[in-house]
Amino acid sequence: MMFFGPPFVLGGSSRAHLQVQSLSAGYGAFLVLRDLTLEIKPGLTVILGPNGAGKTTLLKALSGLIPRGGEVQLNGEALPEKTSDIVKGGMALVPEGRQLFPQMTVTENLELGGWLVGKAERARRLEQAFNDFPKLRERAEQLAGTMSGGEQQMVAVARAMMSAPRLLMLDEPSLGLAPRMVDELLAITRRIADNGTTVLMVEQNVKKALAVADRGYVLERGTLVASGPAALLARSTVIREAYLGAGAAGATTATSAAKTTVQAEPERVL
Ligand code: ATP
Repeated sequence: MMFFGPPFVLGGSSRAHLQVQSLSAGYGAFLVLRDLTLEIKPGLTVILGPNGAGKTTLLKALSGLIPRGGEVQLNGEALPEKTSDIVKGGMALVPEGRQLFPQMTVTENLELGGWLVGKAERARRLEQAFNDFPKLRERAEQLAGTMSGGEQQMVAVARAMMSAPRLLMLDEPSLGLAPRMVDELLAITRRIADNGTTVLMVEQNVKKALAVADRGYVLERGTLVASGPAALLARSTVIREAYLGAGAAGATTATSAAKTTVQAEPERVL
């Protein structure tokens, strides 16, 4: 059963474009990302890679949650440093683990996503969020902590959309969800992208993520090892051998398989 029919209205229409150049970020003296250059074009971009590759660190750095070095531009303008200014600039993050307030209702959680705007605009956006996510209207007064994992993820996405972002970042939205809910969530991210909000998504579910994405980057140990159109990446040796378990390199580690294979692949450029 599909829950969501109508197109999303909340969100951006300005076709946000993020350019990241020589980005570095980490924790204290421990640098996780070094000299990372990538481009998030309008549409849906997925970041893939093994545990500890630095995917979450990338989203944190782009959200201002940890300090960053290098240059980041959103539609040609330097991205601010502070999280509140980044949100004001039109970027929103759905963090890993959703980070809802479990003792607050769905409505209260959603209203928090509209903290930047006045009461009347917030009410208008809430109504729109319920139109965009009809399932949540039925649950408006339910405590968020009593909902299923998939429903909570919907609330987290809807809360981020309450800031009407030009660019939405999602950190492993399918984590811990049943397969049907994974499909549902990924279909929602696709529709958000189709409706004009640029989407940058970190995912462990490589096959399903590449099926909905336009483009992908593969990150390993803080460095890019492959990138390209999602359909090409899905067919590439680097992805098939290291992430989808195909081919004779099954015994090879993800890192070494990716690095050796990608050098021979002509499809690396976006
Ligand atoms: P996962 O899929 O496991 O979440 P990831 O690609 O998102 O992996 P990150 O969470 O970005 O990886 O972690 C990258 C590296 O940074 C890891 O070595 C991790 O141990 C380290 N790290 C993450 N958070 C912190 C922190 N708060 N303090 C110190 N090191 C951290």
